[in-house]
Amino acid sequence: MERYYQKEIETASRETIVSIQNERLVATVKRVYENVPFYRDKMIEAGVKPEDIRSIDDLCKLPFSYKKDLRDTYPYGLFAVPMKDVVRIHASSGTTGKQIVVGYTKHDLEIWNDCCARALTAAGCTSEDIVQVSYGYGLFTGGLGADGGAMRLGATAIPASTGNTQRQITIMHDFGSTVLCSTPSYALHLAEVLEASGMTKDDIHLKAGIFGAEPWTNEMRRQIEEKLGLKAYDIYGLTEVMGPGVAFECSEQTGMHINEDHFIVEVIDPDTGEVLPDGTQGELVFTCITKEAFPILRYRTRDIGVITREKCACGRTLVKMTKPRGRTDDMLIIRGVNVFPSQIETVLLEKGYAANYQIVVDRANHTDSIEVQVELTNEMFSDTVRDLAKRTKELEAALRTLLGIGAKVSLVEPNTIPRSEGKAVRVIDKRKLLD
Ligand code: ADP
Ligand code: ZN
Repeated sequence: MERYYQKEIETASRETIVSIQNERLVATVKRVYENVPFYRDKMIEAGVKPEDIRSIDDLCKLPFSYKKDLRDTYPYGLFAVPMKDVVRIHASSGTTGKQIVVGYTKHDLEIWNDCCARALTAAGCTSEDIVQVSYGYGLFTGGLGADGGAMRLGATAIPASTGNTQRQITIMHDFGSTVLCSTPSYALHLAEVLEASGMTKDDIHLKAGIFGAEPWTNEMRRQIEEKLGLKAYDIYGLTEVMGPGVAFECSEQTGMHINEDHFIVEVIDPDTGEVLPDGTQGELVFTCITKEAFPILRYRTRDIGVITREKCACGRTLVKMTKPRGRTDDMLIIRGVNVFPSQIETVLLEKGYAANYQIVVDRANHTDSIEVQVELTNEMFSDTVRDLAKRTKELEAALRTLLGIGAKVSLVEPNTIPRSEGKAVRVIDKRKLLD
């Protein structure tokens, strides 16, 4: 079985990658300066000329780009080619505010397909596989992104999209899907509906799943693997940079290889903008070096992660990023303490709960409060009142130890927290309504 989709790049030496990046960065900066007034003005303001960028060591001279820049130039202001060359438009799912629009040339789509084909291959997928794509199709990049990768590999794609979960299970069973692509929260929901249909993992044929588009913990990975009988791989991407396939996990399941021949990654201190050394946690910043239609430079993702260049046992030499622990936007500040929903998820899943929870943050009398609503599993639901009180206490104590602040725990009946078909809504911040 093929281990790599593009071996010459995926296992290239560092010198080769750096030389490709140098050449592509210089060309991209020149092209962007000439074709996008917005970037030209920003570079002039920062006192940088295209000639100043001679290698990736000069990257730090370029100004950052922000989501706000996409909104200010909405819809097409950052496109670097005429519209006649743009063959596809996508838009972000709008998780955090007004949607943003990006475009792709035919060549951009080919590269995107390659990136997703690398991800699928790393998960053991070949042309023999039947890939059920249960990411949303449409303006969201998930569906068509994964679909393009499957097509490029010559696998059989089932464009199931999201929703109609019972039908998804029928399709999975009857069509013999071997690979599933969806958000991790939807994968868990699929597992629930599978069980409710009286089936188990032994009645379906999934061997691998490629899950991304939202943060998920390793505990959640174990639950998905157990319930669906597959090996679960992470995939990372964002609309502004391309979509899924910016980075992908290999058989080692210890972080995602970044497609460095197309994207340069930097990790910065989100407060000062200073570039941090490898191995330090910070905000991920990406520069596209092959995109024609939407070549974003030094894009501040607001995703928090760490990159490492240690040798990976899979043989790939592409730099690895850890699972992002969430976006700076997702980080809650509760009574001055930083809290990531993923930290709470880890505790809940370690204690045997399923990933059906919601975090409600509120403020009364100038004091923040945090409540974690957690669904009981069917087995726990038959516990006595005393057992349930004990469970609540136990969880509250574990959360206090982890977060350093008190959180109220409310155990709720099975199947009461809303299920998501795309990105799960983990936090309800009522304070925002008060502002
Ligand atoms: P939106 O910004 O509206 O959610 P996108 O679909 O472009 O639209 O979402 C991209 C974001 O999704 C990333 O910036 C990141 O925060 C999150 N994301 C994508 N893949 C992963 C992943 N594997 N792990 C954690 N977060 C992810
Ligand atoms: Zn690897």
